[in-house]
Amino acid sequence: MVSICPIREPILEKDEEHMPERAHERERLLEERRTLLHEIERIEAFLRSEVEFEPEEGDPDLIERDKAASLLASLQERLQEIEDALEHIEEGTYGICERCKQPIPAERLEIMPEARYCVACQEIIERQRRRSSF
Ligand SMILES: [Zn+2]
Repeated sequence: MVSICPIREPILEKDEEHMPERAHERERLLEERRTLLHEIERIEAFLRSEVEFEPEEGDPDLIERDKAASLLASLQERLQEIEDALEHIEEGTYGICERCKQPIPAERLEIMPEARYCVACQEIIERQRRRSSF
């Protein structure tokens, strides 16, 4: 029996071992990115729609606008984190804690695919950030 045996590159096997995880994270990040871009667009459109309120009503939107503006800022920050994570996937540095250089546990990446620090380092960094903001 003559059969054409597909040539299997050893590199491919190694990738298969390694890639699906990242492909999965990448997919989730891209999905998240799409959602965020959509949301950002929506809020930006809302903020652009200024002068549409009725003068006799005052501007009941003012508080809404304030809320929308700060929401927009946090969404943009999150988008940046996602862009960075996608870049790290390209560079092959994804999933490595930027502080202690240890691999970030898969369970953490599952919950938070844009995580750049392990839990311990994240806590330290947040504590420092809190302290410096006072
Ligand atoms: Zn760490």
